[in-house]
Amino acid sequence: MRRLVAAVVLASLAVSSVSPMVVAQVGQPDIVQEHWYHSYATLTLDVNEWANDYPEIVDLVVAGQTELGRDLWVLRISDWSEEFKPDGSEKDVVYIDGGHHGNEHLGTELAFLTAEFYIEGWGAGEQEVIDVLTTTELHILIMLNADGNDIDTRWNINQVDLNRNYDHYWNTCPTTQPGSSAFSESETLANSIYMNTEVPDADLYVTMHTGVWIMLYPWGKWPEQPSDWELFHFIKDDVNSNISEIPIRNANQGLYPNCGTSRDYGYGVMGFPTFTFETDDEQWLLGTVEALSDRLGEEMDVMRYLIENVWYWRARLIVDSLVVENGEVRISVSNLGRATTSNATLTYVSEEGETWLPIGFDPEDSPCDSAELGFNYSAPGCGFGVNATNSTEITLDFGKAPISSTEGQFFLFYQKRVIDASTWVTEPVNDSVVEFDDRVERALSSPSVFLSMMCVLLASFGKRKED
Ligand SMILES: [Zn+2]
Repeated sequence: MRRLVAAVVLASLAVSSVSPMVVAQVGQPDIVQEHWYHSYATLTLDVNEWANDYPEIVDLVVAGQTELGRDLWVLRISDWSEEFKPDGSEKDVVYIDGGHHGNEHLGTELAFLTAEFYIEGWGAGEQEVIDVLTTTELHILIMLNADGNDIDTRWNINQVDLNRNYDHYWNTCPTTQPGSSAFSESETLANSIYMNTEVPDADLYVTMHTGVWIMLYPWGKWPEQPSDWELFHFIKDDVNSNISEIPIRNANQGLYPNCGTSRDYGYGVMGFPTFTFETDDEQWLLGTVEALSDRLGEEMDVMRYLIENVWYWRARLIVDSLVVENGEVRISVSNLGRATTSNATLTYVSEEGETWLPIGFDPEDSPCDSAELGFNYSAPGCGFGVNATNSTEITLDFGKAPISSTEGQFFLFYQKRVIDASTWVTEPVNDSVVEFDDRVERALSSPSVFLSMMCVLLASFGKRKED
């Protein structure tokens, strides 16, 4: 019966489609939504309807315009009644876009379905959705190339391949139509600005396409595995063992060398764990009876897994023990995340607000200096690394720092992933694990001007270096 209804609706739609506004004015009723690709007009109606119907979780914003002036809608989906997670920590951030290529409708619809799953699931009171939206912000830009979408072409209106137009090794591969320069097109420029200003700390970025059924992780530019290969391989194995047999590969080897893609930009410049999610290209024709959400059910299972587990897609350091003795700190740190950090250290902020770092193995000429190392704490005695799901023990010499005072506070300061571009976090060490084996009063000496500045530096370092 459902099939018959679908056929009837589609038949009437075929007639009315000569006048697109008829469809646009009524939005995209569910039955049509399940059997028809979005145009810019129907997408605009749907996202605005969601924003009206679910103001508590849907914040609809415009990231910019296409070359022809169409709005780039971004759905920001979370339980906006709370700014933080129930435990008081920052919410995790996921960024998703679709529709770089205007003729890859199934990929665009996967972005739409992802938004729909969480928005309408919230409305239906589904526990999985409530748990995700309580702890996570989803930012979904469903249709980047709205101009190309409506005329069913890969290119934007300037005949540019938007997914070769990003500022990461732009135009350095054999490629076609990458544009006149990186970010020459308003669509890609707007997308990069959104990434840099609204979601710079995202721990997952998925960009949706249609082609060969595959998920691609960085790099497209190089055949080598990315520095965070461990994270990508874990996800590949977990998805393939438990959810879907979809091939998951490095883009260069899985597809072909490609440069200036949003995926390589997202990882190489923004530091996000990034996937290109390609649905297969068996796009159906008018009158098909299989519902879209059934057609993409397996792909949605993978998306739900990636989103539900976003907490793990970075290093998550916790201090198991921290013993202060004779000006040194013996520390044991575990990494609960699935990503390795190779660049971590401990800082101490004294009662007076001065920030101290370890002094390294050469106290006469401390190498733990940001001017020399550029926040690279791999110099001996300056910091440490912790592999994914592993632990590290290390002793750090703090020299003259007043660390035996119980009034100060220790902080972990580390990069969330191995890739250079990944962001830094500063997290306080829980007082309950800190032990003082040395009660000898130390003569307080003044910290250097440099060290006093660290406090300010640490506070501002979360801001990304402009690429
Ligand atoms: Zn594509």
